[in-house]
Amino acid sequence: MKILVLNCGSSSIKYQFFSLANNAVIAKGIVEKIGMKGSFLKHEKEDGQKVMFEGEILDHKIGIEYILGVLSSAKHGCIAKLDEISAVGHRVVHGGELFTESKLVNEAVIDALEKYTELAPLHNPPNLKGIYALRSLIPSIPQVAVFDTAFHTTMPKHSYMYAIPYALYKKYGIRRYGFHGTSHRYVFSRACEILGTDPKGLKIVTCHLGNGASVCAIKGGISVDTSMGFTPVEGLIMGTRSGDIDMGAVSYIMDKEKIGTKSASTLFNKHSGLLGISGISSDSREIRAAADKGDERCMLAIKMFDYRVKKYIGAYAAAMGGIDLLIFTGGIGENSDTTRAGICDGLEFLGIEIDQQVNTGLRSKEIIISKPGSKVKVMVVPTNEELMIAIDTQKIIDESKKLV
Ligand code: ADP
Repeated sequence: MKILVLNCGSSSIKYQFFSLANNAVIAKGIVEKIGMKGSFLKHEKEDGQKVMFEGEILDHKIGIEYILGVLSSAKHGCIAKLDEISAVGHRVVHGGELFTESKLVNEAVIDALEKYTELAPLHNPPNLKGIYALRSLIPSIPQVAVFDTAFHTTMPKHSYMYAIPYALYKKYGIRRYGFHGTSHRYVFSRACEILGTDPKGLKIVTCHLGNGASVCAIKGGISVDTSMGFTPVEGLIMGTRSGDIDMGAVSYIMDKEKIGTKSASTLFNKHSGLLGISGISSDSREIRAAADKGDERCMLAIKMFDYRVKKYIGAYAAAMGGIDLLIFTGGIGENSDTTRAGICDGLEFLGIEIDQQVNTGLRSKEIIISKPGSKVKVMVVPTNEELMIAIDTQKIIDESKKLV
C-alpha cells in the first residue's frame, strides 16, 4: 500500500510518500510560500536527489496539484498513475473531545473539524484546506485524519480541567487538550518495541523537545497528563513560546504595554521562550554557541529550559507514582547531549542515571543512554510522526474495507 502523508500549514505543505510494505519513504518534500511571491516546491527522491520547481502556487489546491504532478511525473516521479496512491493521511492539529483516535474523513468528520477551527484557528483551517483540495482533485481517494490531540483524550478529568468556573468548560470547551500526541505515541511505542516490553505495566515520561516542546506522562500505555494545554503555549519553555507563566503577569503586561489579546498572543507565542530570554535566537544551537562564548542570557536561557523539563519529569513521576522509562525526542531531545545531561543532572534520586560516555556526542539514533544499573531506563528515540500517520491511515483503510 502506498500512502501519501500531508502536513498542511498556513503557507506550506510538507509531504512524505510511503511504501508501507517496508515502511520506506519513496519521496518527500515541501511546498513553501503558498500565496506569496517566490513560492516553490522542493522535492526529494528516494535516492536523495533533490529537485526544485518555482511557480505561482496561489493556494493549497495548487500546492497539492504540484505535489501530485511531481509524484506522477515521468522524469522525477515514483508512480505511473495517481491511482497508485491508496490513501492520504493528514496531520490534523485539533480533534477536540470528539476524536479519540484517527478517523476516515467523511462529511461528519469535516463538519466537526470545521467546528474545531475555533479552538485551533491557525492550524485546523489549513489542515481542512488540504482535505478539501484532495476531495476536489481526486474524489475517489480515501483520506484519514490523524489528530495531535487524540492520544491525550485518555487523560483523567482531574488532570485536564482548569480550576476556572465550570460553566466556561461547558460553554467553550476550555480545558487541557495537549498536542504532539502522534509523536509521544510513536516514541513510546517504538521504545517498548526496542525493549521488547509491554507498556501496560510501565510508567513512562516522553520529552518532545523541538521548537515546540511538550512532556507527556504515559501510564499503562495511555496518556495521563501532558504539559501543553488549551493551546500549545502552556508548559515547557520553547523556541518562541513562554510556556507556563502567571496569568496575573499576562494581564499586568497587557495593561502596562496597552496591548490587546492579539498582540499579547503574539508576544507569548512568537517573542518569548528561548528567543525572549536570550535576545538573539530561538534556535538552541545558536544559543548554546553563544553561551559557550560566555553570553550570560544564553546561559540563563539554557538553565531555564533544562530546569523546566526537570520539574515536569518530577511532577509526572509523582503523578504516576514512579517512573520506569524516560524518552527524549524532537530536534533538541534527539541531538543535544548537553541538554539531555542538563535535564537528568540531579534526578538520580528518582533512579535516573545517564551513561555520559554513551550520551556524549550522540545524535538522532535509537539508543539507551542510561547506565546498565539505572533503575529508570533513559532512551533517545527519533520521532517519526509521518510514519505513524501512514501506519494509522493504512490500518483505518484496512478496517473500512472489512466493513464493506
Ligand atoms: P519543530 O518543533 O519545528 O519540528 P525540531 O524538532 O526540528 O523543531 O527542533 C528544532 C530544534 O532542534 C532547534 O532548537 C535546533 O537548534 C535543535 N537542533 C536541531 N539539530 C540539532 C543538533 N544537531 N544539535 C543540537 N540541537 C539541534
